[in-house]
Amino acid sequence: MTSSLYCCGCRADVSARLVDGREVYPHRSDLADLPFWKCDACGNFVGCHHKSAERTRPLGCIPTPDLKRARREIHRLLDSIWTEGWMSRREVYSAISDDIGHEYHTGDLRSLDEARKVWLIVNDLAQQCSSAEDTRSRSRSQRT
Ligand SMILES: [Zn+2]
Repeated sequence: MTSSLYCCGCRADVSARLVDGREVYPHRSDLADLPFWKCDACGNFVGCHHKSAERTRPLGCIPTPDLKRARREIHRLLDSIWTEGWMSRREVYSAISDDIGHEYHTGDLRSLDEARKVWLIVNDLAQQCSSAEDTRSRSRSQRT
């Protein structure tokens, strides 16, 4: 089975092939049965929303290893904002979407430049949230 997906390594739409974890992560038996879309031209691949009803729906375009790392970093920082309860998950995504001018999905990032831009936005949000938190806790401790 193949599907047309944007490959960030080839910088083009490619005909990606549906493979399983055995092919892309041969040493990870825990991932053996999971679906992935692989670009045979450059060897990069993307995972799927495998826990959803459409288990072979790709998470986004096919990233290079560097881009995958950048996306993971953004996700970690972004998730920390809503898991700390500073903003809701929806608020975080809509703040980023407002800033970049279209709906934001980490899986849609196509280049390290785009990733860097979003990282700065998310980092700003995180800093605003944590400094607001500091102010709150300082004023709390002054009162007591
Ligand atoms: Zn490719």
